[in-house]
Amino acid sequence: MSKDAFSSLSLKPELLSNLGSLGYEKMTPIQAQSLPAILAGQDVIAQAKTGSGKTAAFGLGVLQHLNVKRFRVQTLILCPTRELADQVAKEIRKLARAIHNIKVLTLCGGMPFGPQIGSLEHGAHIIVGTPGRVEEHVRKGNLSLDDLNLLVLDEADRMLEMGFQDALDAILDYAPVDRQTLLFSATYPKEIEKIAADVMKKPVVVKVAATH
Ligand code: ADP
Ligand code: MG
Repeated sequence: MSKDAFSSLSLKPELLSNLGSLGYEKMTPIQAQSLPAILAGQDVIAQAKTGSGKTAAFGLGVLQHLNVKRFRVQTLILCPTRELADQVAKEIRKLARAIHNIKVLTLCGGMPFGPQIGSLEHGAHIIVGTPGRVEEHVRKGNLSLDDLNLLVLDEADRMLEMGFQDALDAILDYAPVDRQTLLFSATYPKEIEKIAADVMKKPVVVKVAATH
């Protein structure tokens, strides 16, 4: 078995067989380098260029760790924009196709607030959203993070560029300390190092250099 085969990981069989039907034959370099630590429950900082398959890297970690029978928000994935949040939710639903009854809910700014409260009342396992709107729902008591055990900061560099630091800090105040945190980024500016030091526990750092 080649070391970049998904089957070299201890994924749930239904996740593994679904990857085959999606045509994902082998792991991309960032997946091969980050997934063992992600699946082992470690905090991970992963940097690789756009299009390198970062969503499936954290998405498989999310789905592997999720307890579907427990209908509580266990995972929060934060993205800089609604478009990116929608893309991530779509990819997660695709990866989760073989697992029944997983509820993924998006909570983004620029969308009507009221219907999101209604959706939250129905419940979800996974929330994908933008920091400002997620913070507002948490602050107003519409979304509880008490059962959160996995936090993903996707495109962390862009979230910082867009001024989401305060919203991120506020969300982190509500998140249980005992959790796994994954940070994905296309670049690695100084500010990321600061977030990493503030919110992550002994993170494993994985960087895949751009090849030209
Ligand atoms: P990034 O977040 O790094 O910019 P994405 O997660 O959006 O990249 O992935 C880019 C594309 O690659 C997506 O269309 C995704 O479905 C596809 N992809 C991801 N992992 C694999 C894989 N192991 N094999 C084939 N295609 C993949
Ligand atoms: Mg991405």
